[in-house]
Amino acid sequence: MADAEIGVIGGSGFYSFLDDVTEVTVDTPYGHPSDSLFLGEIAGRSVAFLPRHGRGHHLPPHRINYRANLWALRSLGVRQVLGPCAVGGLRPEYGPGTLLVPDQLVDRTKARVQTYFDGEPLPDGSVPNVVHLTFADPYCPAGRRAALGAARGRDWEPVDGGTLVVIEGPRFSTRAESRWHAAQGWSVVGMTGHPEAVLARELSLCYTSLTLVTDLDAGAEAGEGVSHEEVLKVFGENIGRLREVLFDTVAALPATADRACPCTDAHQGWDLGIELP
Ligand SMILES: [Zn+2]
Repeated sequence: MADAEIGVIGGSGFYSFLDDVTEVTVDTPYGHPSDSLFLGEIAGRSVAFLPRHGRGHHLPPHRINYRANLWALRSLGVRQVLGPCAVGGLRPEYGPGTLLVPDQLVDRTKARVQTYFDGEPLPDGSVPNVVHLTFADPYCPAGRRAALGAARGRDWEPVDGGTLVVIEGPRFSTRAESRWHAAQGWSVVGMTGHPEAVLARELSLCYTSLTLVTDLDAGAEAGEGVSHEEVLKVFGENIGRLREVLFDTVAALPATADRACPCTDAHQGWDLGIELP
């Protein structure tokens, strides 16, 4: 019996109101996850919550151990992951409070380990093979459907699809960078969506990103540009309904055994060289 079937990587605001949350510490061959994992139940589904930035938000996006986070979730039995995150809107119509469920991703990070298959021997002596996985569609179609339906059910019309560009941070974009991102046709900008999505794919996990726009990015408005206070304020105003949408999404996800999406066959015959947990 798995400890959890669904994982949610997000802040403590998502699980702090649940009854009967069990804290577990998980170690991985890749080091420690961002924090303990918190096991709870939503609509009869077992869920593991992981605070992406750690309790107290002490980990900036570039210091998060993304490999340990995804590995830890999988080792508890998780096969479907929801990754809510705060983003900047790159178009005037995607103002604060917009919920966008992206269907594409652009990686503009610079210095993050983004694969389990880097040839480094693990402590147990096993050596990952060279593996090139298909990543044309980075998000789980079933997870996206569940998230979009959950938002509509809460009268929060979501933006269905769009491109999340992920920057290294921790600074926000310059106006020129932001205008360039918008000119490419990209929709929202964040700092954590990569390598979270690709590492999930490498572990054959379904991964769905739910992005909450907390500000218009520097190039999309004429003002001072985004501030951290502004981000926290809008996130705080929307955390309640984002939690409702997340919980409804959890309830709508297929059972692990019933998954019929391409994520389950992500390895496509590649010999990984490592044993997945
Ligand atoms: Zn899937």
